[in-house]
Amino acid sequence: AAPLHPSDAPASEALFARARRVVPGGVNSPVRAFRSVGGTPRFVTSARGAYLTDADGREYVDLIGSWGPMILGHTHPDVLRAVTEAAGRGFSYGTPSENEIALAEEIVARIEPVEQVRLVSSGTEATMSALRLARGITGRSRVVKFAGCYHGHVDALLAAAGSGVATFGLPDSAGVPQSAAAETIVLPYNDIEALEAAFAADGEHIAAVITEAAPGNMGVVPPLPGFTEALRRITRAHGALLISDEVMTGFRCSRAGWYGLEGPYDSGAPDLFTFGKVMGGGFPAAAFGGSAAHMAYLAPDGPVYQAGTLSGNPVATAAGLATLRGCTDDVYSHLTTTAHTIADAAAAELTKAGVPHTIQWAGSMFSIFLTEGPVTNYDQAKTTSSPAYAAFFHSMLDQGVHLPPSAYEAWFVSAAHDDAALDRVVEALPEAARAASES
Ligand code: PMP
Repeated sequence: AAPLHPSDAPASEALFARARRVVPGGVNSPVRAFRSVGGTPRFVTSARGAYLTDADGREYVDLIGSWGPMILGHTHPDVLRAVTEAAGRGFSYGTPSENEIALAEEIVARIEPVEQVRLVSSGTEATMSALRLARGITGRSRVVKFAGCYHGHVDALLAAAGSGVATFGLPDSAGVPQSAAAETIVLPYNDIEALEAAFAADGEHIAAVITEAAPGNMGVVPPLPGFTEALRRITRAHGALLISDEVMTGFRCSRAGWYGLEGPYDSGAPDLFTFGKVMGGGFPAAAFGGSAAHMAYLAPDGPVYQAGTLSGNPVATAAGLATLRGCTDDVYSHLTTTAHTIADAAAAELTKAGVPHTIQWAGSMFSIFLTEGPVTNYDQAKTTSSPAYAAFFHSMLDQGVHLPPSAYEAWFVSAAHDDAALDRVVEALPEAARAASES
């Protein structure tokens, strides 16, 4: 047989065709479908360290990291051992177990304002439950979110959302009742005046402001200095809660997430936090938490109902614990060095190729906008060139580097991205930058 062209992926193509018959769009989460970059999504058969292997037997340096969780790299031996041992003791109990406490303790020990957490199975559940809790505590119904921030596919939080909603250019989602959307006030990110105006108009009805601690779902757009402080000051002045969504940043930007980098705040800590991704180590585990006084509103002690058949699942908590315990200071410094190596090399090549770009950071989390920066809100993020990104993405893919298949996502590195993996990324960049310049 003739050798495959780098962009041919016959086995993935066959699987994609088969998938499309029984799964909508052939994928179980929209951005996986390659719609904005075109082509065939790679069906992965295994993942180890910094690498993914696809159905055609090709190996890729993985810069998706399962969209955040795989901070130690794939199939890390300590996590694998913990998961295997846990699975040997049963898959799900439906009764309490000790690892749930240990995982909660691990989180509470890291983020000072969080005294208690309730475990759930996805980031979406975490933000949905935190929002219900905030409404239950305040007896108010409205919520403020920021354009370009994604908090999972919660009805009230899909308006002007980032991530896949941004990738597909959707204003919001069909199927969200007017009544749910009407309670959501969407404001531009990093705009203190807009927030003050919203509270001046509607303050006594606003239960909460929810924000990504440092947004990563419109590309990385960190809060401008003073923005988070202002969120806290304004919400407190009006009796609203502040929910900091650290599903992406939590345990990634630092041991204590974005809060560990930017906090504590003079104006006070956020009331509620949400976590996911890293704390599940690749398994379905997420959490929301806050002060014991606030969390006491939850059932069984309080009137706000929230539950889950698989919440605190023993295999997921084992994976999360092993992952968090593996996140040493060395891991965080490695992530920083690695991310900067990639970003610096990408910037150099894009400059050489004459492609406008700006690289933005939240700790070691970064993304590359193919537009002149800086990018401080969603409108600016949307000026990134999707055709240039698609060309860049496919050139990297052909050279064995798997970037996120969307211009609106952070690139995730791991403890397993060693010199060999980095060399492969760096070697692929000149050609990819050239492709972007010709798109
Ligand atoms: N919040 C943020 C900040 C996220 O990045 C995500 C997922 N990308 C979510 C919530 C939703 O998490 P999940 O996909 O686990 O439901």
